[in-house]
Amino acid sequence: MLDSPQPTPGASTPSEPTLDQQALATALSGQHFIGGRFVPARTGRTFAVVNPATGQEVARAADGDAADVEAAVQDADAAQKSWAKMPSRKRGALVAQCAAVLRDHVEELARLIALETGKALRTESRVEAQVVADIFEFYGGLGGELKGETVPFAPNVLSVTVREPLGVVGAIIPWNVPMLLMALKVAPALVAGNTVVVKSAEEAPLAVLRICELMNRVLPPGCFNMLSGFGPECGAPLVAHPKVKKVTFTGSVEVGRIVSKAAAEKLIPVTLELGGKSPMIVFADCDFDKTVLGAVTSMRFTRQGQSCTAASRIYVERPVFDRFVEALAAKVDAMVMGDPLDEATDIGTLISTDQFDKVSGFIKEGLATPGATGRAASAMPSDPALSKGLFIRPYIFTNLPDDSPLVQEEIFGPVTCVFPFDDVETVLAAANGTEYGLAASLWTNNLRIGLDLAHRLEAGLVQINQNLVVQANLSYGGVKSSGLGKEANLESMLEHFMHKKTIMVNYG
Ligand code: ADP
Ligand code: MG
Repeated sequence: MLDSPQPTPGASTPSEPTLDQQALATALSGQHFIGGRFVPARTGRTFAVVNPATGQEVARAADGDAADVEAAVQDADAAQKSWAKMPSRKRGALVAQCAAVLRDHVEELARLIALETGKALRTESRVEAQVVADIFEFYGGLGGELKGETVPFAPNVLSVTVREPLGVVGAIIPWNVPMLLMALKVAPALVAGNTVVVKSAEEAPLAVLRICELMNRVLPPGCFNMLSGFGPECGAPLVAHPKVKKVTFTGSVEVGRIVSKAAAEKLIPVTLELGGKSPMIVFADCDFDKTVLGAVTSMRFTRQGQSCTAASRIYVERPVFDRFVEALAAKVDAMVMGDPLDEATDIGTLISTDQFDKVSGFIKEGLATPGATGRAASAMPSDPALSKGLFIRPYIFTNLPDDSPLVQEEIFGPVTCVFPFDDVETVLAAANGTEYGLAASLWTNNLRIGLDLAHRLEAGLVQINQNLVVQANLSYGGVKSSGLGKEANLESMLEHFMHKKTIMVNYG
C-alpha cells in the first residue's frame, strides 16, 4: 500500500452529516442545475451513470440538448449583469465562502466521485475534493487583482486600461478529474465577473452537480449552472450559442479541434487543455529511491494512468536502467488494486468499457510487438463483488520501438514505456518526438543539465525532481497539440476570462 498523500491543511470535518454516496447519487438523479434550482431535461430523457467497480447503475443523469442549453444560457446571461456590477472583492469573498462550504463536504464529494469514476478514495478521490476547495479559495482571494495599467501616451492625456468580464462562459469538462478541472474554469470565470454554464462529462456527472448545488447556496441564482449530456447533443449547442462569449474546454485533441473551429466561427476566445504523452527523464545521478517513487506518482498509477500529465514514457540513463525497471515494477507490485471505496485500495478501476477496451487493445498490441516485454504488476482484486469491475493491471513495457502506438499515442491507462538512453541530445529528441507538449519531468542532481533540458523540452510544464499534479497556483497548460492557454493561476483569470478596454482622457 502506498503512503497516504498529505491532507490539505485546514481540511475540516463536515458540519452536517455526511450523506451516503448511493443516497446522494439517487437524490441527484435526472437533474440539471439551472437558474439556482434542479430541473430535469426538457425532453424528460435520462441516461445511466454506472459504477465502474461493479457495473451497476447508480443514478440517471439528465440527457441535455439544445433546449436545456438555451434555458441555462438565458439564465446565466440574465444573472451576469448584476454579478458583474458587484465589487470584485465581494465576488471573491463569495467564491471563498463557496470554498468553505466545499471544504465541509470533502468526504461526501470524495465518496461520490469514487462511486461514479472508480478512483480510489484514499489515493485520489479525497485528494481531488480537497484540491477543489483549495482552488476556489485561491481564486476567491484574487478578487482585488483585476487590475489594468496606465499607459504613457502624450502630455495631458491619461491613458488607462481596465479589465472587464466577457459575459457567459461555456465550460466543457472530461471525466478523469472532473471536479478539479471544473474548478479551474469556474473559479476564475466567476471571480472575473462572468457567469458560467458547465457541460459535465457523460461518464461522471454527479459530483460536479453536487458541487454546483452546494455553491448555489452561496452564489446568486444563475451564476453557476450545470448541464449533463453528450458532446454533440449538449456540448456543441453550448459552444455555438450566440450568448456564450468564451469557451473553455478540457478533453481530447479531436474534440478540441471541433470546439476550436466552432468558437472561431463566432470569433470568441477559447482555452483548450488537451492530451499529453509526457516524458520523464531519469539520470544516473538522481536520488534513486525518491525517483522510483516519483515514477509511480508521475505515471499517476493511482489514477489508473488516466491523466493528461501521466509519465507514459520514462527514459532512464543506461547505467541504472535495469535496476530502475526492477524497482519500479516492485513498487507497483506492492500497490493494492481493489474496491475504490476501501481505504486500503491504492488503484481503482478504469472509467468505462470503452476505455477498458481501448487500453486493453494497446496492451495486446504491446505484448505482440516482437522483442518488446510487458510486465504486469499488482494483482487483480479477488472480491467476487468486483468481478465485473473495470480493473486493468498496470503494465511496464520495455524494448518498444519509438514508432509504436504505445509510445506515440495517449493511452490514458496504467501503461508506461521505459527506455534506456546514453546521451542528452538523443533523449531530448526522443522526449520532444511526439505531437504533444503538456508536461515533462527531469530527475537529476546536476542542475546544469536539468535546467538546460528544462528550457529545451517542448512542454508547458517542466518539473525537476518532483512531478506534482495540477493545483492552485501551479501554472498549467500545454504547447503543440496539448492545447492553448494556461489554467490554475492569476494570469489565466486576467488573460482568459477578461478583456482589456482602453480609456483615454484628454485633460489638456
Ligand atoms: P474523452 O475522450 O475523455 O471522452 P472527449 O474530448 O471525447 O474526451 O470529451 C470531453 C468532453 O467534451 C465531454 O464532456 C464530452 O461530452 C464533450 N464533447 C464531446 N464531443 C463534443 C462536441 N462535438 N462538442 C462539444 N463538446 C463535446
Ligand atoms: Mg469521448
